[in-house]
Amino acid sequence: MKKQYILQLFNIEDELLVKNAFEITSKYFNKKIFVRGLIEFSNYCVRNCFYCGLRRDNENLQRYRMDIDEIFQTAKQIIDLGIKTVVLQSGDDFYYTEDMICRIIEKIKKYSKDVAITLSIGERKNESYKKFYYAGTDRFLLKHETSNEELYNKIHPDMNFKRRKEILFLLKEIGFQVGAGNIVGLPAQNLEDIIDDIIFMKELDVDMAGIGPFIPQKDTPFKGFPKGDFNLVLKTLAITRIVLKTPNLPATTATVSLFDDEMKKVEILKKCFLSGANVVMLSFTPENYKKNYKIYDQRKSLDLKIVKQAAESLGLEISFQRGDSLKKCIQQHQKV
Ligand code: SF4
Repeated sequence: MKKQYILQLFNIEDELLVKNAFEITSKYFNKKIFVRGLIEFSNYCVRNCFYCGLRRDNENLQRYRMDIDEIFQTAKQIIDLGIKTVVLQSGDDFYYTEDMICRIIEKIKKYSKDVAITLSIGERKNESYKKFYYAGTDRFLLKHETSNEELYNKIHPDMNFKRRKEILFLLKEIGFQVGAGNIVGLPAQNLEDIIDDIIFMKELDVDMAGIGPFIPQKDTPFKGFPKGDFNLVLKTLAITRIVLKTPNLPATTATVSLFDDEMKKVEILKKCFLSGANVVMLSFTPENYKKNYKIYDQRKSLDLKIVKQAAESLGLEISFQRGDSLKKCIQQHQKV
């Protein structure tokens, strides 16, 4: 994939870019917006990322952990609504052992075997990922954040880009539907880095990609830096759709949180859908915990009413179905 080609796309006028992205999305996803049910089950994290309020050195954060039954009851609530994807997300929290994670997965799958489970719990040992897969996990989300190795290593103390990349390719090899994704507008990031992010996701052949803006959090080293640019997020989303075609692309909570005005949520969502987004994640994390999942400040949440309003105004339909990776659907079809 030539950098020059993607750079040219960044120079195309927005209207044309969006028109193309929306046409591709409509063609592949049949005008559907897939809804996922998200549970943020722990805000403990052993890492210390410069931009994230969950970082271990943040002493101003009230920490919480949900126990296995609480997680299951919340998952049950999502499933009982008919939503067929449950996303389990946390900081890198090793309180939850391999066995505990597997028990949660098995419990949910036992309750509803046709529900898809996405794990987003960060970096673990290679063997652990295999166990999670064999316990029934369908998808794994591990954002690569930035593919600029030097920048990545600088802002992720005790972590490194080589390992991140190695894990992402391992997840693919194991058989997960794999999600990566970047942060747009990180301090010291430039357009070339964003182009490299798209190339990286193309090489990894991602099944999902979470693309969202940088938003500062007051208790992190990156407090005071400006937020990522909304138009650049939309452009990145649209170009990712044009270049990669089929991955599931969420309208991310971070994008919706860029503006203070609550009234703007519908407008923002519409712009994300027009730019290629085909997924939304609705948080079902109990309210007493949700307020402390402070990855960044002024985090907003979405509800079904707003998503419906945005989708229907564009002639799109909300779907609670699994919305598996199209690549997986094609593979299964070929096996038949
Ligand atoms: S970005 Fe993820 S790994 Fe880094 S501190 Fe936040 S929750 Fe932890």
